[in-house]
This record gives sequence, structure tokens and C-alpha cells, in this order.
Amino acid sequence: METLILKQTHDLEIAANILRQCGLVACPTETVYGLCGNALDEKVVENIFKAKGRPSDNPLIVHICSLDMLEQLVLEVSDDAKKLMDAFWPGPLTLIFKSKDIIPLKTRGNLKTVAIRFPSNKIIVELIKKSKLPLAAPSANISGKPSPTNIDRVIEDLYGKIDCIIDGGNCTIGLESTVVDVSSENMAILRPGVITTTMLKKIVPQINVPTNAEPIAPGMKYKHYAPFANVVIVKGEQLEKIAIKIQELVIKDKLNKKRVGILIVDELMNYFDNIPVLSLGSINNLENIASNLFEKLRQLDDLQLEQVYTIYLNDNNLGVSIMNRLVKACNNQIIEN
Ligand code: AMP
Ligand code: MG
Repeated sequence: METLILKQTHDLEIAANILRQCGLVACPTETVYGLCGNALDEKVVENIFKAKGRPSDNPLIVHICSLDMLEQLVLEVSDDAKKLMDAFWPGPLTLIFKSKDIIPLKTRGNLKTVAIRFPSNKIIVELIKKSKLPLAAPSANISGKPSPTNIDRVIEDLYGKIDCIIDGGNCTIGLESTVVDVSSENMAILRPGVITTTMLKKIVPQINVPTNAEPIAPGMKYKHYAPFANVVIVKGEQLEKIAIKIQELVIKDKLNKKRVGILIVDELMNYFDNIPVLSLGSINNLENIASNLFEKLRQLDDLQLEQVYTIYLNDNNLGVSIMNRLVKACNNQIIEN
């Protein structure tokens, strides 16, 4: 299939037309690049799952551009849901509602509920407006790989498999949306994101906070964000001690002739020589680390490393959301130091 690459300055009418004609368009959002298609068309949704290689019981998020659109898709909106919408929409918050029948079961992974987001990125909002369609849009990557935050990574995964890719530069946030279930009295955070638990609790204090136990969102049981290399997190109280521990581990791996690399923070860059070292950014700027994370995981793949060491940042606010992704990327391999 020929994939059309559009600059954001091009007329988005072309892309909207592709969407109306049942095609697939990858475009930027404020979180990560999304692979968009008509959420109301079962065949289109099937094609999204196919292009990504995504398991069919992992439901998609439906993107809207107005509250009128929301009303057409969901059965009820609680007062608390309204408060969250007032506070965080448009933006990186996905809410789970009871679904109307208009949304095919395929879109919602056979559930009675549906995930809805009103994004703030102008390009996707324009596409929804121009196509007049609610757009199902999972991240625009092959399932299991780190989500794409720039067009090069979308091209790497999906060129030739979809109709169009819109270049909108780098995504600002870099982590996928926070997901909150508002479909029952028992409101719960299903996936952490840049809208943190503290921010949500300010609006609805009774919201349930996730533990690290069972996956609660259907998609969370799957392998995610996994680079080719075996990634291990080193956790400890002091940054310097972490660096020394990683130095020891690296020496052992080098003796065993493993291709080893490090994903670290700016503050520890000087501890390592003669080894590929990537920085996530300064430990004092978690927003920047969040927006770099997926691209750095992709760069590890480019380096074709076998073994990578990285560090545990922290469990505060945005730290929770970053670690949620990094712990998955390393398949829960954490060394306490
Ligand atoms: P992604 O599209 O990869 O960002 O994933 C969307 C996330 O939202 C996944 O973790 C899904 O399991 C979750 N999700 C989507 N729809 C629902 C739903 N109806 N109920 C609960 N979680 C959902
Ligand atoms: Mg994804």
C-alpha cells in the first residue's frame, strides 16, 4: 500500500477524506502519535488491529472533539465525570463510560463500556471536526513496541501498512493518557499518566488509586514498551550508589562479551566510559523525562544492545506514570541496591 505523508501545513481535508472513505491515518496527539480510523465502522477498526498486530480484546480509545459527540456515544455521564471533564478536557485524560450500541463491540473489546478522550492537539481535533467522525486511535506503533513520539518512529512501524501519516513534529507529553473509569460509582484510575493521582484527587477525592496488583484495564496484561534488549532497573536511595552498582554489572557483562548499554539521567552521565550511554534528561525535570522516555527506548533498539541498565526514578506524582512504563519495559526486573 502507498502511504501518503502529509506535512501539518497541508490541507487536512485530504486526511479527513481518507478517514471518511474508511482509511487509516496516523497523526500526532499531545500524548503520542495515534493510528486513527472511524470508531463506528467495524471493518475499519479491524484494520487498525491488523496494522498494529494488536490483540483484539485490548479495547481502543475513541477520540472526540465536542461534548455533543460524547452524548451520541455514551449512555450516561455522572456528576463526578463532568467535574473531571471540566478540569482536564481537552487534554490527556481518557474516561471510561457505559457505551451506547452505536459503538461496535470490536472497538470496545467486547465490553459494555467505552474509553473516550477529548484531545487538545490541534491536528487530531481538526481531523475529527473535518471528518465528522469519532476516531478510534491507539498508539501508532506495532503492538508491544514503545509508543511513537515522532513521525520517524511511525514510519518505521507503519509505512506501507496504512493510508496516510501526518507529520506534526514531536509530541509534547510523550506518555499515553491517564485512564479513569467513571462508568460506575466506584471511580478508579486504570492507567497513570501526566494527569496525576494528586491532580485527580483534588477534583474527586474519593477516586480509587491503583495498586501494582492485578491488571485492571484489559490492555494492561499485555507485553508493552519492550525494547529488544533485556532491560534491568537498578533501584536505590542514592544516585551515586546506583551508578556504582551499574558499573559493577557492566563489567561482568563485558567479561561475558555482552553488548551492554545504559539509560541514565544527566546527573550520572560522567560515571560511564567506553559504553553506549543515553540520557533521559535531568532527574529534576520529570516532564522532560516523560517526553523522552519512549524515544530513548527506541534508540536502545537502534543500538542493537543485548543488555541495558537503567534507574528507578521515584514514586511521586509523574514518577509513578514514568515508572509504570519503564517497569513494563524491563519486564519487572528490578535490582534493589
Ligand atoms: P492504548 O490505546 O494502547 O493507549 O490503550 C488504551 C488503554 O485503555 C488500554 O490499557 C485499554 O485496556 C484501556 N481501555 C480502553 N477501553 C477500555 C474500557 N472500555 N474499559 C477499561 N479499559 C479500557
Ligand atoms: Mg499503545
